[in-house]
Amino acid sequence: MEIKRTIKLESDRVPGFGRDLMKVPGCEKLEGCIQCGTCSGVCPLSIYMDYTPRQVMALARADFKNEVLRSHTIWLCASCYACTVECPQEIRITDIMYELKQRALREGVYVRRFPIPVLAREFSEMVRKHGRITELVLVIRLFLKTDWLGALGNWRLGLDLMRTGRFTLWTERIRHKGDVDRMLAAIDAGNGKHP
Ligand code: SF4
Ligand code: SF4
Repeated sequence: MEIKRTIKLESDRVPGFGRDLMKVPGCEKLEGCIQCGTCSGVCPLSIYMDYTPRQVMALARADFKNEVLRSHTIWLCASCYACTVECPQEIRITDIMYELKQRALREGVYVRRFPIPVLAREFSEMVRKHGRITELVLVIRLFLKTDWLGALGNWRLGLDLMRTGRFTLWTERIRHKGDVDRMLAAIDAGNGKHP
């Protein structure tokens, strides 16, 4: 993916975004970024990203909310933590990427038809509803929302997975789902969200 080099304008900023991000536990040290580029250098996926990790840190801190939330970068981040380990300023870049992903999902501004955010959202919705995922339903929903023609090309694989018991045709649920609901409610409360 080509790295974006467009000029940013003052009018593109969403004032307060960076400050708000830095209030989230784990994101506090973003302010101290010295733009050394170590994170981009060690990131095994930066060559595929539209903004490098260094650029994402600069854009987020400078309030360019739309650029970071709509970027492919936050979804290509594989959470390997190499950047976080090497950052001389001890900035938890991986955790910042996670927070940006969550915000993109909450605000519905992630890249359309890009499989990774769609998978994350569908996965999370199924767990909230049933306590676990059902692989077949998840895969169908993923294909329908990203590349339904791709599903046709993979029908044989789907049949094989059903034959070997890896895909079931019914929605699976867990017992005691109330326990999961309580855990998720506690996490939401900790994140400042209310159901
Ligand atoms: S390694 Fe740390 S200080 Fe250097 S650019 Fe990345 S986030 Fe900033
Ligand atoms: S955690 Fe993400 S951004 Fe950091 S090095 Fe790994 S893939 Fe790159």
